[in-house]
Amino acid sequence: MPRENAEPTLHAPYGPLPEGGTVRTMTRWGTPVMHRPQAPVAQYDDDLRALAADMVATMYAADGVGLAACQIGVDRALFVFDCPDDDGERWVGLVCNPVVTLPEGKDRRLDEDEEGCLSFPGAFVDCARPDWARVDGTGLDGEPVTFEGSGLIARCLQHETDHTLGTVFADRISAKARKKLEKAQARTADDFPPDWPVRGNASA
Ligand code: ZN
Repeated sequence: MPRENAEPTLHAPYGPLPEGGTVRTMTRWGTPVMHRPQAPVAQYDDDLRALAADMVATMYAADGVGLAACQIGVDRALFVFDCPDDDGERWVGLVCNPVVTLPEGKDRRLDEDEEGCLSFPGAFVDCARPDWARVDGTGLDGEPVTFEGSGLIARCLQHETDHTLGTVFADRISAKARKKLEKAQARTADDFPPDWPVRGNASA
């Protein structure tokens, strides 16, 4: 059976993402909450579940593969994702208080590929990162969770964990690449009004 015609298998080893949330305005780079370490998740309650549901709704409205709480303006160390790996399999999950593990020594290979951020929308530039990553943390009920993989999922797990630490990917690229990124964003700014991605979803 030809692989390209097959639906990618969806892996949600710790259950589906919470549904029923509200699409929120995307917080942009330059907003203080995005540039400082986020407060650890300490209570696994209904408020956390509601926050996660809003994050999920906002991620899908923005057509993203991952989103951290600070991207909807909330100072809390968690992220959600729905992202393919390098086999095209879809991985879906949520991680509170993430800790990333990257390959060391001879196992460490850098993948130089395009990266973008929903908080600086419409712009992409190459960013070198290890081609494999593992993230450990907790799920919505405080249970331990682990995700790992290669390809886009490795980039996503690193990018979103960075957000919980107050790092954006512009912090990881050269000044020249940052200029290129800013120019690209200026060209597409009209496509992303200040309330994006709420607009167009107001009736939903
Ligand atoms: Zn981002």
